[in-house]
Order: sequence, then C-alpha cells, then structure tokens
Amino acid sequence: MRQYRIALIPGDGIGTEVVDAAWQVLAAAAARHGFALAAEAFPWSCAHYLAHGRMMDADGLERLSAFDAILLGAVGWPATVPDSVSLHGLLLPIRKAFDLYVNARPHRLLPGVRGPLRAEDFDLLVIRENTEGEYSGAGGRVHVGTPHEVAVETSIFTRRGVERVLRHGFEQARRRSGRLASVTKSNAQKHTMVFWDEVTEQLAAEYADVQCTRYHVDAIAARLITHPASLDVVVASNLFGDILTDIGAAIQGGLGFAASANVNPGGGVPGMFEPVHGSAPDIAGRGLANPLATIWAGALMLEHLGEAAAGAAIIAAMEAVTGAGRVATPDMGGRASTAEVAAAVAAALADG
Ligand code: ATP
Ligand code: MG
Repeated sequence: MRQYRIALIPGDGIGTEVVDAAWQVLAAAAARHGFALAAEAFPWSCAHYLAHGRMMDADGLERLSAFDAILLGAVGWPATVPDSVSLHGLLLPIRKAFDLYVNARPHRLLPGVRGPLRAEDFDLLVIRENTEGEYSGAGGRVHVGTPHEVAVETSIFTRRGVERVLRHGFEQARRRSGRLASVTKSNAQKHTMVFWDEVTEQLAAEYADVQCTRYHVDAIAARLITHPASLDVVVASNLFGDILTDIGAAIQGGLGFAASANVNPGGGVPGMFEPVHGSAPDIAGRGLANPLATIWAGALMLEHLGEAAAGAAIIAAMEAVTGAGRVATPDMGGRASTAEVAAAVAAALADG
C-alpha cells in the first residue's frame, strides 16, 4: 500500500483544533482511496518556546526532512511570545531550509458560502513568490533619529527566483484554464519589475499555448473585486502576492476558508500546508474555529503527494457540507463546532 509520512505541527491556539479536525478528514480520505498516512506530531509552538527557550528542537529541520509533507496549524501567541520570535523560530526556517519558493493559494467560493461580492463563480489560484523580492531583508537606516534620517529597503529579484516561480505558474495554467496573469508595477518600478516583465515574456514565448496577460498590481487588485471570474492563475512577487491573497481570502468568505501550500515543485523536500489564518486567541480553545481552511490545505497536500483523486474528493465533500448548510461554524452563520464540521466532511467523504 502507498504510504506517506506526515509531520503534524498543530502549533498554537486554534491551530491544534483545526489540525485535529483536518486529520480526521485526511484519515477518512486515505481509507477510502487506498493509501496510508503515518503521522508524527511535533509540539513546536509558543508554549514549547516558553518551556524550552526555542520554538523547535535544534535538530527539527533535519527530522522534518524525513517526511513527505508537513501539515501546520498556526504559530504565534503574541500575548506571551513576540511574533518576531515565533515566526523566525519556526515558519521561516522551514520555508528556507526546504526552499519552498512557491506559495499557492486557491480562492473560490464554496457552495452556500456568502462572500462580499455579487460575483460568485470565480476560481483563482494565486501563486506568490516565497523566498526573495521585497521581503529579502536587505537595507538599513542612517542618521537614525535625526531630521536627515533615511530608511532603505532593497528588493532583490534573481533570474533563477523569478523564472522558477513564473514557470510553475505557466505549468499550473496549462493544467487549468490556460490563462495566466503576471503581476508587476513596472510603470513605477523600473528595475525589478521591468525585469519580471521580461522574464514573463520569455516564458510566454516558451508556453505559447498559455494566454499570458501582464497586469499592474493596482489594476489587478481592482479586477479581483470587479471581475474575479476573468482571472485564473495569478503569479506575483512576495509583497504583491501577500496583499492579493488577503483580497482573495476576503472574497472567498474569510479566513475560515483560505488555504495555503508552500512547496518546492522540484520535489525531494516536504511541502508545508497550512491555513492562512493565525492562532486566533480570541476564539481559541472553544471549538469555534472553522476547520475548512485546514481541511482544504490537507486536500492540497494530498494533491501534491500525487493523490489528486483523494484531494478532489475532500473538496467535493466540503462542498457537500457547505452546500447543504446544516453543519456550520459561527463564522459561516451556524452553531456547529470545529469537530462537528470535520465529522460532517468525513461523513460526506465516506458517502461520496
Ligand atoms: P496571526 O497574528 O497569526 O495572524 P491573529 O491573532 O491575527 O493571528 P488570525 O488567526 O489571523 O488571528 O485571525 C483574525 C481573526 O479572524 C481571529 O481573531 C478570528 O476571530 C477570525 N478567524 C481566524 N481564523 C478563523 C477560523 N478558522 N474560524 C473562525 N474564525 C477565524
Ligand atoms: Mg493576524
């Protein structure tokens, strides 16, 4: 039997609740589709930091490298550990160690879910560059505290970095509707963004079967609201992708539905799959969290592992549950618990 080793990092707050819930659905999918998932859970979190002085064990990355994938809940508990510590102690080292340069987020409305837009039929895949660009961290400040103070933040784009993320976008566009949107601000940023446009054009010539359109980020932000159905695969830099995927999460009904895959399409390393939301201290520990974002992340994980049919079955089961509208957490307008929604999805999977 095919078997996959999954590292579970539930993390903090609602992270533990939604990972428990998603695991239930993943186990049901594995049973139904004839493969095995072997999980090992790691307690790395802010509580772990308070007890041991580090977010993850010293050999953590080495241990994770033995897994086929990582399913993560949420990391962060700002009341006791600064976000800079929790982020830099766990999430960023994992992304960096495995060079997870693609951050892919699907945005669409599940049946029965009300978003803020009139348009309901959009189906987007936003691919964000995850390792360089505006978040390279290069820069500094001079004349600090004086009237002459200057702060500089340098964006670094490499040909290798831009080309590989765009190439992944073109490959995805080929598998989907054949349409790709490449996002820049090359009318205002004359070095990095003009470079991004050039690489886009080079790849567009190579992928002649894909219809490639270049957008400025402000224009595509507006288009996401006015004509989301006109877009399919959207590829953007670290900063622009960060912003556009928050719009994506909003138009798909909120953070309870937004899932994220951090992958290195070259393979050979575990990808990390997670909900977009954080630990949500305001609702943690009360069974109120919507588990669908994490269940969706689990579906992305199965698809990445080569179990596309099982991934699609999970999505169909989620659609059956949201479409019926009977079992829903408070953010979806219902009164069901995290565990009840997960159980309903697992049951729909068994029926489907
Ligand atoms: P972080 O700092 O890691 O982003 P956060 O405390 O800002 O975490 P988020 O998890 O990002 O909180 O979410 C913001 C708010 O959205 C939460 O306080 C919560 O009310 C709501 N929310 C987030 N995720 C969910 C979910 N899965 N189900 C229901 N509500 C959620
Ligand atoms: Mg937040």
